[in-house]
Amino acid sequence: MAQVINYIRSSISELMFPKVCAICGFSLSKNQNFLCNDCSQNRFERAVSSRADKINLPESVTGRFALWQFDKGGYLQDLLHKLKYHRLTGVGEDLGSILGNTIKKEQILNSFNVEETKILPVPLHRKKRKLRGFNQAFFIAKGFSGKMEYDILKKGVVERIKNTKTQTRFTLNKRRENIAKAFSVAQKEEVVGKNIIIIDDVFTTGATAFELVSELENADVGKIFIVTVAQA
Ligand SMILES: [Zn+2]
Repeated sequence: MAQVINYIRSSISELMFPKVCAICGFSLSKNQNFLCNDCSQNRFERAVSSRADKINLPESVTGRFALWQFDKGGYLQDLLHKLKYHRLTGVGEDLGSILGNTIKKEQILNSFNVEETKILPVPLHRKKRKLRGFNQAFFIAKGFSGKMEYDILKKGVVERIKNTKTQTRFTLNKRRENIAKAFSVAQKEEVVGKNIIIIDDVFTTGATAFELVSELENADVGKIFIVTVAQA
């Protein structure tokens, strides 16, 4: 009975609020949340150095992957903005699933086995999380985890202890200074010896991810890999 009621309820809500793609407005099929196939496959430009160069990466980082090139003022920026400020957490999950599918297909993380690897969405400071209501990186990680089978580290294992200023207009040096000592591994036993996949929305200069990397190195983790939806 409950199932029937749920079915009727979801049918009614689909009639009243048909699901449409957050970018092009086309209607979506049942298994799509916010992005249609065409937009998720053809709308954006693949990041130039998607299998980024080992150069300029800290020693413990075996690689970095960004799916799309950030398009200032474009559809992707709009989408990431919706995820961050309009609480469309489903967009984050969709993006995470697309990331996971791509990485699986292109066999990018084959050397990271499921048992020894954990996903770490870049933590937000608790004040910022309270203000925003959620951490957008967590929802990307959730979609990604659903496809890749790695577990996400429990909340609180790695924390953001410094409430940093928005870095958008900073130079690289200013970014580094701003983000220095921003993270802390609160439960070392959860990460020691584990491989870590850091997940975030955009990779810009790497200042944030690399600061997190140095904290993880101090906590004696294994290999580290950085995955982002976009690259600026
Ligand atoms: Zn679309």
